[in-house]
Amino acid sequence: MEIRLLKSSFDDDGSASDHQHTACFVVNGAVAFDAGSLAMAIGADRPNVRDIVLSHTHLDHIAGLPLFIDDLFSTLRSPIRVHASLTMIEALRSHIFNDVIYPNFEEISNEFGPVLEFREYEFEREFSVADISILPIKVNHNEPSAGFIVSDASGSIALTGDTADTSAIWEAAGQLKDLRAIVVECAFPESMTKLAATARHLTPLGLKAELRKLGRRDLPVYVANIKPMFREQVVAEIEELGLSNVRIFPVGGVISV
Ligand SMILES: [Zn+2]
Repeated sequence: MEIRLLKSSFDDDGSASDHQHTACFVVNGAVAFDAGSLAMAIGADRPNVRDIVLSHTHLDHIAGLPLFIDDLFSTLRSPIRVHASLTMIEALRSHIFNDVIYPNFEEISNEFGPVLEFREYEFEREFSVADISILPIKVNHNEPSAGFIVSDASGSIALTGDTADTSAIWEAAGQLKDLRAIVVECAFPESMTKLAATARHLTPLGLKAELRKLGRRDLPVYVANIKPMFREQVVAEIEELGLSNVRIFPVGGVISV
């Protein structure tokens, strides 16, 4: 399985920054998990991505979704499929695709037909998209938020999305015989523990406690969704934890597991 974390901002010289402002992971070049910078940074995979799976509806996870549909509008031969819980779908209908913030793409067709289709998923119920199986599991963040067990023929990963301390996804991941890697968030440094708790994110010590729940030290763990303003501090604190299997997910990079 290949997982790419899209870039989301620029340095002063115009090159892509390693600071992550938004969240969008593309699995096997075909399925996007969240859509933070999907329109802006998908690059060569643009013709292949037609399924987008949402973890929750915070702006940094959906900002590139309306623009992605807009970019492709005239060329789509089949609709973009957005997989989300009913609450998330209703939020997108009410607050984004409402003809105020952006057009209601559910109601506007191009010459080939509809361009946007919402597909509801249920928590704890596995579904399949483009040879990938996806099990959404509730995590501890904005209500509702999902983490995912993502599986293909090569094995499975756990992708936590945004979350504070949680348990169900660790229990599910711990039962998998083919678990290959963990992709987990760690948004804030230790000095901001209070804000992390309020915003329901992890700090490095919180991350360490979460990984203990999994009960395995042999799997590679990739840390993503680090708040860009605190990236250097969070990275230094994660290194200080001394966990040899934990590394930082490179922004714009691909991991193969
Ligand atoms: Zn969030």
